[in-house]
Amino acid sequence: MIVSIASGKGGTGKTLIATSIALSLKDNIKVQLLDCDVEEPNDHIFLKPAITNTELVSIPVPKIDLHKCTFCRKCAQICAYNAIAVLPGDVLVFKQLCHGCGACSYLCPERAIFEEMMDIGVVESGNAQGIHFTHGRLNVGEAMATPVIRKVKDQIKRDGIALIDVPPGTSCPVVESVKGSDFCILVTEPTLFGLNDLELAVDTVQTLNIPCGLILNRAGTRDVIVEEYCRKNNLPLLMKIPLDLETARLYSRGITLAEGKLEWRDKFVEVVRKVEELAGERSCSNKR
Ligand code: SF4
Ligand code: SF4
Repeated sequence: MIVSIASGKGGTGKTLIATSIALSLKDNIKVQLLDCDVEEPNDHIFLKPAITNTELVSIPVPKIDLHKCTFCRKCAQICAYNAIAVLPGDVLVFKQLCHGCGACSYLCPERAIFEEMMDIGVVESGNAQGIHFTHGRLNVGEAMATPVIRKVKDQIKRDGIALIDVPPGTSCPVVESVKGSDFCILVTEPTLFGLNDLELAVDTVQTLNIPCGLILNRAGTRDVIVEEYCRKNNLPLLMKIPLDLETARLYSRGITLAEGKLEWRDKFVEVVRKVEELAGERSCSNKR
């Protein structure tokens, strides 16, 4: 089963929950944790994995042979990302905008475009207390997160459970990370900002036809905001984690709930049991 852990808003405690679930399950089932937040991966801070494998991620970017080029502008017209500009006597390639799709070189009538590989990041994997750990790191200044995320997800094994820590927001890296999941856990907090971003995240996940449920972090006096939203939209509230000074202290020292407060382990195991049930119900109703 593939379970992604996402949150519309950053800073809701998604990493704390992803790593706590992984640690709570690891003694009973094969667990993989894949940190797809490649712009700022931080699951390794909590799990401290021993990295045993590093793989470069590169994309093909165009290079122009100006001796062959007739400056017809076809490449600039076809590029959906405005990564090429044709000037009188020159062609500029903005590599940071290029998605490596190959359309310009394929369609150049003069065969004046060839491709060279550009490194944009790395994927590192290893072991953390019996958890198979993988994360991606996008090079500083690079904008193309999705090829790195795809490489991270290439490591998914289908024996056991794969947990995907999804970047915050609702843009392309989120879609790339979440797609293919059997279930998505959305982590939120009881604030109006949190609710606004949660609604966007729920829309994204439901558009991808992935069943989802919520974990309410920093629960306290304003939980009704999220509870009401769940009720109206028929979304399961899987767990509440109270706003608590001790949890915040643990977090600031890089210690997960599953390690710092052992009683939470059973609660996370119970959340995954519910997730299996809900994902199973969805797959049965899709077959009908
Ligand atoms: S499509 Fe080819 S020939 Fe036309 S401007 Fe681009 S590189 Fe030059
Ligand atoms: S490879 Fe694709 S994205 Fe990159 S410059 Fe060519 S058309 Fe644009």
